[in-house]
Amino acid sequence: MVKIVLLPGDGIGPEIMQEAVKVLEAVGQVEGISFEWETADMGGIAIDKHGLPLPEATLKACRNSHGVLLGAVGGPKWDDLPGDLRPEAGLLGIRRELGLFANLRPAKVFGSLEAASSLKQEVVAGIDVLVVRELTGGLYFGRPRFREALPEGGMRAVDTLEYTSMEIERIARVAFEAAMVRQRKVTSVDKSNILESSRLWREVVNQVAKEFPDVELNHMFVDNCAMQLLRDPKQFDVIVTTNMFGDILSDEAAMLTGSLGMLPSASIGGKVGLYEPVHGSAPLIAGQDIANPLAMILSCAMLLQYSLGRPRASRRVEQAVEAVLEAGYRTGDIWQEGYNRVGTKAMGDLVARAILEGGAYGKS
Ligand code: NAD
Repeated sequence: MVKIVLLPGDGIGPEIMQEAVKVLEAVGQVEGISFEWETADMGGIAIDKHGLPLPEATLKACRNSHGVLLGAVGGPKWDDLPGDLRPEAGLLGIRRELGLFANLRPAKVFGSLEAASSLKQEVVAGIDVLVVRELTGGLYFGRPRFREALPEGGMRAVDTLEYTSMEIERIARVAFEAAMVRQRKVTSVDKSNILESSRLWREVVNQVAKEFPDVELNHMFVDNCAMQLLRDPKQFDVIVTTNMFGDILSDEAAMLTGSLGMLPSASIGGKVGLYEPVHGSAPLIAGQDIANPLAMILSCAMLLQYSLGRPRASRRVEQAVEAVLEAGYRTGDIWQEGYNRVGTKAMGDLVARAILEGGAYGKS
């Protein structure tokens, strides 16, 4: 029995979560995996019901599970609360509490969606990049961090960029291990021509690389990487980088694929991994059965791969999504003239059916 905690959250979160469960039940049926579901509150709904975004009971349920699926949190209703009581504080809290130091964001272009990218089709066709971002260190967490008034007038603000060799080593290892089951190529991105922390980053990545002789490693400065992602994204397999560089580059890589509604992510490193779509809670379209559930569904594929060690089941989910797109079905956000427009539930049904039928069925 595999125990999965569901954190549907706010906005479109609950709707897309229902489709994720439907799809996992289908893949479970085919692959002989029995799931036990536990739903817990996080984000705005947790604030409304319990007065804080990440209740202890939610954390406890997550710690006792094999994996956590998160929909999305936040919305205008909670925007005026102080920082530590906002829904997003729950996100930082759960990453910290579960020790999730590695964020994995694949950017893959499905053949049938190549035209949705803002880049030329020949540039994006076949893109399959995985950005591995360090998630709990670097500039976003470094201390000291403060603001002060200067005696001569004006202000001074300080953030600190620091990395320990241990933090670099463990994220590098995640990247090399991921590369081993992909194209066996790692690009480590830093700014070692300027930053001391980047020079340590490069040294440690080189050390870890010795454990993975089958993986090709190259280093790239972050500014060059930002350019190369637009010029020739197909040169990349796995990109590993710091928290801030990864924040920016993973969004850039994601947008190569065209649609926010298609992008999954995984946060791993601790005993239990967390899987969520890259998009937010899209409050304006919530409750209308129009949200795209595919990012959430593809996050389930990552859960199967990284937390449950079921690569074949994971591939089944991805292939089913591909088959449904290939058959011409689209939710509103990726719809174009000539395609079959479907809602959230229908899209989930189609993917589940494709899994149960082995992905083979034609355009309606
Ligand atoms: P958003 O990702 O929710 O929405 C951006 C745009 O994309 C909107 O037009 C939305 O309708 C559309 N969109 C997003 N997901 C979609 C889907 N699955 N199908 C179809 N269309 C989709 O970002 P936002 O509007 O900046 O933020 C809304 C709320 O979500 C805010 O409260 C924000 O703080 C929160 N947020 C949460 C997370 C998270 O839970 N990890 C991430 C980002 C934003």
